[in-house]
Amino acid sequence: MACPLCGGEVERQTRTYAITYKHLQANRDLPGVYCGNPDCGEGMVEESAWDEVARVKAELKAEFLGVMTPDHIRQMRVHLNLSQRKAGQIFGGGPNAFQKYETGKVTISQPMNNLLRLVAKYPELMMELQR
Ligand SMILES: [Zn+2]
Repeated sequence: MACPLCGGEVERQTRTYAITYKHLQANRDLPGVYCGNPDCGEGMVEESAWDEVARVKAELKAEFLGVMTPDHIRQMRVHLNLSQRKAGQIFGGGPNAFQKYETGKVTISQPMNNLLRLVAKYPELMMELQR
């Protein structure tokens, strides 16, 4: 495989990346391909690591906004013994809402975050929502 910019030889390396959201930062070691030509220095994170970057960004965004992270949302839903589809029915947002929250594609809103926290603490409230 050759560098798309200079034609130099590229090699696989793991480098530490600072992933940021606003003022928050998380460092992750990510695989990438880098040009060995010192005058070029072209490089990029491997496609396989893009999901990890997106996941970390979603966590930072949740932290910034003071809402639950995707992992935390999933744990809470599993704890309540709900499928993603069922959770979307009960809490609103549609059948795909929780799939989006849990993959970090959509950040949970503050009201949804608060509702989930309440129901996690008082699961009997679900009966009210299911009526
Ligand atoms: Zn190059």
